Amino acid sequence: MESFSLSNDVLDKALQLLKKYSLCDSCLGRCFAKLGTGLTNAERGKAIKISLMLQLDYLIKEHKIKDLNEVKEILLNMKETAKEFYKLYFTDEDFKSRECYICADQLDELKNDFLKKSLEVLKSSKTKSYILGVKLSDYLKMKENKFVEENNLTYYESIKNEIKREVGKKLASLSFPPEMDSPEMEVLYDISSRTIITEAQHKYYLYFFNRIKRNVPLVNWYSKDGKSLENAIQVMPTTYFSEPSEVRIFDEYYILLKDYDRDYIDLPIGYVLKKGGIISKREREALLQIKPSSRTYRVVVYSPQNEPVGGNKLAGNFYDLIISAKNYAELKEKLKDYQIVAIDLIDSRGKHKSVVSIYLKSDQNA
Ligand SMILES: [Zn+2]
Repeated sequence: MESFSLSNDVLDKALQLLKKYSLCDSCLGRCFAKLGTGLTNAERGKAIKISLMLQLDYLIKEHKIKDLNEVKEILLNMKETAKEFYKLYFTDEDFKSRECYICADQLDELKNDFLKKSLEVLKSSKTKSYILGVKLSDYLKMKENKFVEENNLTYYESIKNEIKREVGKKLASLSFPPEMDSPEMEVLYDISSRTIITEAQHKYYLYFFNRIKRNVPLVNWYSKDGKSLENAIQVMPTTYFSEPSEVRIFDEYYILLKDYDRDYIDLPIGYVLKKGGIISKREREALLQIKPSSRTYRVVVYSPQNEPVGGNKLAGNFYDLIISAKNYAELKEKLKDYQIVAIDLIDSRGKHKSVVSIYLKSDQNA
């Protein structure tokens, strides 16, 4: 059995970076943040620097490095971590620590300032349900993007993320754990002004609905006479999938309503809504991927020439049909030979059904 040997891809990459840039332990470690777990970026960066120093020392002692000046530059770019090693080959007095290319040696100070100020805000705030945010200066944002792109850093973690994660951890240890799922406010640290801004966070409720009258669309945009769900409740619904407004919807479809909190709504314009629950950002993104895989419609057609296959005669040339289709467009294609009188959606299948069963559970127990 052939075993792997150590390639030095990580150390090589770090060496290339340190030839060009002076980096503090955190900023170097952040370039490899997605490798190895349970470490802070500072620990990661320091470990990489130490490994590099061992390797450089080995190469020097084996006479494999001709020009020591090259090593000198790299060590200066490693900053304080390389100071003792630097003394081994070069004189002590000319070790001048260079400013970190990314954070200008400000990272720890920023974290401490953010921690101190957010703690003050949280202690005096009514709600303890919060999430942290960081706003970088335009300059830092640009610098970081360029650095990541030019050096092709696949395992990089953003400076924003590191600050949020580490300050969040400290706040949690001080009995102020951040709430990721549906926080009531954002505690945003603006790096340029070093100030905290708090912003109320919106709540998004999932609602299951039936449409029992025709030609009343969900959003106003499609309304011909000003009647719509949006108009009736004065909130713009977010839809994931639906049916044209001439189709009544007897199955449970769902929409998202921002900051609209009622348990049950029966609207005379033709909508019945049942509240499902609060949906987090992650869940909202997941819902975007889910659509019914097939739908069943009950259709009334007028067909004077021939009796439709599977049709149930209602009166004269009027027939009732149950048809399955992928969506409304496919249904229309299947019905192209008939004159359509009315369409109702009566059932649907697909992953969205599990959304219904998850979020309507409490309702069924009630
Ligand atoms: Zn730095």
